[in-house]
Amino acid sequence: MCGIIGIENNEDAVVLTAAGLLTLQHRGEESVGITLSGKEKMETFRYMGLVSKIFNDEILLKKLPATAAIGHVRYTTSSKSSLINAQPFQMSCIHGNISLAHNGNITNFHEIKEILLKKGAIFNHTSDTEILLHLMAMSKGELADIVANSMRKLDGAFSLVILRDKTLIGARDKNGFRPLVLGKIDNSYILSSETPAIEVIGGKYVRDIEPGEIIVIENGEIKKSFIYESPKKQNTCIFEQVYFARPDSVMFGHTVKEARIKMGEYLALQMKNIKADIVMPVPDTGYCAAIGFSRISNIPFENALVRNYYVGRSFIKPMQNLRDLIARFKLRPIKEVINGKEIILIDDSIVRGTTSKRLANILREAGARKIHFALSCPPIINSCYYGIDTPSKENLIAANNSIEEIRKYLDIDSLTFLTLENLIKACSFDDKRNTEKDNNFCTACFTGKYLTNISNYIPKKS
Ligand code: SF4
Repeated sequence: MCGIIGIENNEDAVVLTAAGLLTLQHRGEESVGITLSGKEKMETFRYMGLVSKIFNDEILLKKLPATAAIGHVRYTTSSKSSLINAQPFQMSCIHGNISLAHNGNITNFHEIKEILLKKGAIFNHTSDTEILLHLMAMSKGELADIVANSMRKLDGAFSLVILRDKTLIGARDKNGFRPLVLGKIDNSYILSSETPAIEVIGGKYVRDIEPGEIIVIENGEIKKSFIYESPKKQNTCIFEQVYFARPDSVMFGHTVKEARIKMGEYLALQMKNIKADIVMPVPDTGYCAAIGFSRISNIPFENALVRNYYVGRSFIKPMQNLRDLIARFKLRPIKEVINGKEIILIDDSIVRGTTSKRLANILREAGARKIHFALSCPPIINSCYYGIDTPSKENLIAANNSIEEIRKYLDIDSLTFLTLENLIKACSFDDKRNTEKDNNFCTACFTGKYLTNISNYIPKKS
């Protein structure tokens, strides 16, 4: 997963981009980058680590003059986690200096790279995003045409922000897997992965960039907006609302927080025969669902796990050995609340099962009498090829075990997953477009129904 942002026609473009990136930090902690478009040239700065790395003398204190900028935070899904793959990628070609930041995975990357290599293309990075630079450089026409021509050759997930001098472009693949929204602040437009990055800098959400749309912005005006390829229907990643997006993000007409509360309400209905003393979340993504569960079940909500915020999100760290180490430090129980209680524990999902098992152990050590574990999504039985770092199928616990086998492995009293039908209802309750069941979402990691050809995709080894 990655976060992208762009702003144009603003004297404070650099500071606002940096502030927006801070708000998108949860979408990637491995690297950060920013391209500034100054009076004479475009410059790109990229670092490994957190967004705070770009708050340095060179970029902010010297106040490099720039009225347009794009930024990117990254976590690795398709290639090595290293500075060379940090974005934005800036290139110089027949069409001028162009910089690009990408969220998602291009699933026909290897096929296209082979073709480009045979034509003599030279690659500097191992990231899938680089093929877009080549395709754009080889394409003919205006800036919007070269973006459209290149995107038509791609399969998979790609939300993009592109900068050439003072022209800002936003684009979304025809399925709309990854979010991209448009905002406005004074006489400037902003593009961002999520709405809070617009609001935090004083801007207002205008609308979503539609699946298959390319939008061209210059001097505070939308110069052009068109559909480069008509979508059959919208297939936005449903896992954004389960786990990845911020709770204050607006998606499908409601905040993610509201959707998560609904997930908890539906879970409570699914588990109405279970009586317990308290319902407690795994912080942070379990909070809203636990509130919803408590409201419907009348079981008291308790906050009995303390999260260490100085440890990164274990799910988005690229290496298994780091994941194990981080999880041990991450959550501590409040024994006085848990001791002697029958508890309902709410989390967003189970991936490998190792973190959940460790957590169940911690709760038993803290004196839990019974543990009922509830997840606000269905069992994850397939890998994601569209930009979320789920491991390969053999490492997904639900792909290889029945629910009863997982319950025994976790050594808990009951295990409940939110049904797909209830998840879809929870994520689309306020969407005026969504009248049909299973509309508007990719659900492939739960169903195996992939929406693009993935036969030639080689995922990152987990
Ligand atoms: Fe999201 Fe799952 Fe689809 Fe990936 S496969 S885009 S995680 S719903």
